[in-house]
Amino acid sequence: MRAISSNIQATNQPTILSSIRSEFIDLRLRQFITENKIRDWPLDCVVLLRQMQQSGKYGILKIVTIKDLPRGIDAATHYYTKTKEYFMWFNRQKLRYPFQRSSDRRLNFTIAHEIGHIVLDHLILPSKKTETEKYMDDLEADEFAGRLLMPKELICSFNYYSLEAVASWLNVSNSALATRLHRLNRVDLILSRKVKSCPQCGNVRFSSFASYCGVCGHVRRKGDLGIRRIFYPDEIVMDSYKRSLVCPKCESSLDCISCDACPNCHTSIFNICSDDYGCSYANSAYARYCEICGKPTCYKGAGLFTDWKDFYVTVQR
Ligand SMILES: [Zn+2]
Ligand SMILES: [Zn+2]
Ligand SMILES: [Zn+2]
Ligand SMILES: [Zn+2]
Repeated sequence: MRAISSNIQATNQPTILSSIRSEFIDLRLRQFITENKIRDWPLDCVVLLRQMQQSGKYGILKIVTIKDLPRGIDAATHYYTKTKEYFMWFNRQKLRYPFQRSSDRRLNFTIAHEIGHIVLDHLILPSKKTETEKYMDDLEADEFAGRLLMPKELICSFNYYSLEAVASWLNVSNSALATRLHRLNRVDLILSRKVKSCPQCGNVRFSSFASYCGVCGHVRRKGDLGIRRIFYPDEIVMDSYKRSLVCPKCESSLDCISCDACPNCHTSIFNICSDDYGCSYANSAYARYCEICGKPTCYKGAGLFTDWKDFYVTVQR
């Protein structure tokens, strides 16, 4: 069950919170992420819950929205021991989807909380739980939801231009993000130094005169506030003159000082712009796109780089 103030209470109860089963939550969360092939954030739990129901793996029989749940309850989940099935109710008055404002995004956390009750097996015990036990279950479900929607590594890798900007990126309410930062003891992130980054791919590496992002080709504009911060590593071995040391295509040695291409396969020794008649700029060892004109680089054209989107996805966990 998720009541209005459960995750706010959580921040005020450090002693009780320290007794939740942190490692158990982590273990179940990891299994859940693998089972549901979750690779990419932000999460949309409306979609996730539908997938869980359709998969049949979790015994979720019915998800219904009703006009009003008692005492300001957002949602409730019940387990029927006989049929081994879950019923879930959501308060229709709290449903605003797709999420737009911070208050709409509260639903995402509410659903993640209810999923937490299922994944953590809170409801399958036949005996009735005491109020304290139910309260502990709610704290654990809140913790599960926080970790699912806001993985630690991910939330530590943002530019906090504002709490709202990051919360909006993550599809959570401002207060859910504030609570998570508080729980992680990382409220300092809100005031931490900002690093210039690409609003599309999060790349933080730019040559001095770059007009385009070398990783994704996005045009750079003054006043762009990139939320993500991702260091895309060099994928080619180069010297400080941006000259390849071995051929990135056939791995032949490139020690011939006067050559401008591999003697074996004719790949350029520089990651030059693919625009033969224009730019000819030699790009860095991470650049899929020419930082001067935005066209693909010759090494990207030769298929020598991983797709930046694959890298973007894998660093989020
Ligand atoms: Zn609950
Ligand atoms: Zn970019
Ligand atoms: Zn070669
Ligand atoms: Zn160019």
